[in-house]
Amino acid sequence: MLADQQLLDDVLGAPGARQRRAMAKAITLLESTREDHRLRADALLHGLLPHSGRAFRLGLSGVPGVGKSTFIEALGLWLIARGHRVAVLAVDPSSSVSGGSILGDKTRMEQLSVHERAFIRPSPSSGTLGGVAEKTRESMLVVEAAGHDIVIVETVGVGQSETAVAGMTDMFVLMQLPNAGDDLQAIKKGVMELADLVVINKADLDEDAAMRARAQITSALRLLGQHGHGDPAEQDAAPWQPQVMQLSALKAQGLEDFWALVEAFRQKQAGSGRLAARRQQQNTAWMWERIDAGLRAAFRGHARVRHALPQVLQQVDAGQLLPSVAARRLLREMGLEQPAEPVGCSTTTTSVNTTR
Ligand code: GDP
Repeated sequence: MLADQQLLDDVLGAPGARQRRAMAKAITLLESTREDHRLRADALLHGLLPHSGRAFRLGLSGVPGVGKSTFIEALGLWLIARGHRVAVLAVDPSSSVSGGSILGDKTRMEQLSVHERAFIRPSPSSGTLGGVAEKTRESMLVVEAAGHDIVIVETVGVGQSETAVAGMTDMFVLMQLPNAGDDLQAIKKGVMELADLVVINKADLDEDAAMRARAQITSALRLLGQHGHGDPAEQDAAPWQPQVMQLSALKAQGLEDFWALVEAFRQKQAGSGRLAARRQQQNTAWMWERIDAGLRAAFRGHARVRHALPQVLQQVDAGQLLPSVAARRLLREMGLEQPAEPVGCSTTTTSVNTTR
């Protein structure tokens, strides 16, 4: 019998506060770096897996101050009023540097965080982006198994974390300020391409600016190659066209329109089988990403590699040794022959980046 059977049962079906405590405990267990905790967490997740996967996973990104927590609070309460249970998770790699997370903080969502139909968990506060993202993916299984049918994963609009969040959610929403359209250079092309929906927040401050931003971002998306499909007969089969809308999180205006777009996206993706395909690709990418990370850690920790590394590095730095030859030499130290065609890293990168 599972060592944490009680914990599993409590996550799956304990009433109210007891279930929330169990979820928090389960997530703390899977965030632990202790080997025995890892084994227990794996067993627990195995038990939770059949009960997970039924939620809709919504990714949300935007620079600090754009209004993410205001929006999540308003949307979360709006969804709860319509019978949903909402979980909020965060991916914030900067938290491992600062020691504190700027995302998913309970004080940022005062009403939602105390609501019994909501669960908010800040970003894991240590580890590489890959490690932080993995914990969030696993936490997602916990909150889904506990019956939350909407999971919002938020991240800051800096660095690679957006790719990670787009790679673990069904729909990726990018939040912008009304003046964003004035300086399209500021909008990173790569991130724009990830967006299924761009939301211009704080429309209450300057309606005209928000309209302008909307028009500019819409044409920027078109320039990125997201062309519409003219033939109505092909509409169902055609991929989703990223949308742009404006709202005011502070005034809770535009939530209905926002959710209507989410539902439209969801129906289109589910109907065409793209939702299932996207999740399958994400799972495969997750596995390869972890294999990659595991191999890298094993390589760096290998005694013979560690012994040989300084000298090899020195030779590479001095231009005496070709980097590729150095890599092969070090891999041999680990007992690995590098295959003629490197498959590991390149496969991983490709699959992580093509999650749709
Ligand atoms: P986050 O860092 O992205 O989570 O941003 P916050 O939700 O903390 O919001 C940053 C600031 O913008 C706060 O002072 C909010 O009250 C304000 N804010 C958020 N949404 C709106 C909005 O729709 N209109 C206006 N006028 N202010 C907003």
